[in-house]
Amino acid sequence: MREKPCEICKEVFSYKNKTKKYCSNACKQQALRNRETVLAKQVVSLNQSIPTVDNNELINQIFNKCIKQTEGMCNGMSIHHSILTFMKDMINTLRLGTKSDNKLKNQLERMQGLFNKLDQIAQEDKCEYGYITFEDSAVRMALNKLDNIKRLRKK
Ligand SMILES: [Zn+2]
Repeated sequence: MREKPCEICKEVFSYKNKTKKYCSNACKQQALRNRETVLAKQVVSLNQSIPTVDNNELINQIFNKCIKQTEGMCNGMSIHHSILTFMKDMINTLRLGTKSDNKLKNQLERMQGLFNKLDQIAQEDKCEYGYITFEDSAVRMALNKLDNIKRLRKK
């Protein structure tokens, strides 16, 4: 058995397999999260390279579309869980990409909270093919939160 430092926590650990980079599952998970964040930031910087559209303006446009989609989703429409996951990731990416506008950042944070909640409900309610239709109580909760966000957006 040989020893080397973990790439995440720098703690020295012993290993049999030399491709092993992390001391524990927790550090392996952390490394995965770090990679996902780097990826999300890259997506945002790609968006920033689009000319003629101001970055916050672009984020605003995408955000408004996301609100419309969410309303449709609450309107008895059945959607695939992967679409919900995609929208959740997109909101997170937009939140990471918002640097200068604190008001927008705050709204995106609330939206992210809503998506985390919807995703949690969806995990329990999806059918065997991965489709979800939200129950009345979930729809009411989501539409209430959406109304709050929309009110904030008008101010
Ligand atoms: Zn470690």
